[in-house]
Amino acid sequence: MLQVQQTADGKGKRLTTTMPIPRDTAFHLIRQYRPATEKTYTSVQIDIDHSIEEFYLAHLNHSCEPNVIIDTTKLELRAIRDIAPGEDLTFFYPSTEWQMTQPFQCLCGATDCIGTVSGARDLPLNVLGEYFINQHIGAMAMEHLLGAQQLKTPIAV
Ligand SMILES: [Zn+2]
Repeated sequence: MLQVQQTADGKGKRLTTTMPIPRDTAFHLIRQYRPATEKTYTSVQIDIDHSIEEFYLAHLNHSCEPNVIIDTTKLELRAIRDIAPGEDLTFFYPSTEWQMTQPFQCLCGATDCIGTVSGARDLPLNVLGEYFINQHIGAMAMEHLLGAQQLKTPIAV
């Protein structure tokens, strides 16, 4: 039921569905993956220091108004709203990626589009808080925040 198609401009690929997917459905289990030895344009970060490559994930595009989440704990794709056949399946890249190797300018057209997509590291916490994010991203954001605060604290003499 998942299908990889050309984008309208013919320059890229998109992942779509041939059947309706009701909200909250886990519709794809991520099982046929291989570990990524380094982060790439198509790899997905599944915890603090591991990324994977998988055929469908490689074609899942970013949107700031996504209809899918990648749950890296359960290794599954879930619909976060009802999805109609033919719709592009998209997820929010910073929900899995802390720091991306190839940042890009987002053209999703969403009202709250974040603009440059470069990973969770570069997003303010209040923006990140608007989205589903995976555990490792939450943990890394917290660590990053605490580190930044420690830098601001004068060293006692
Ligand atoms: Zn966007």
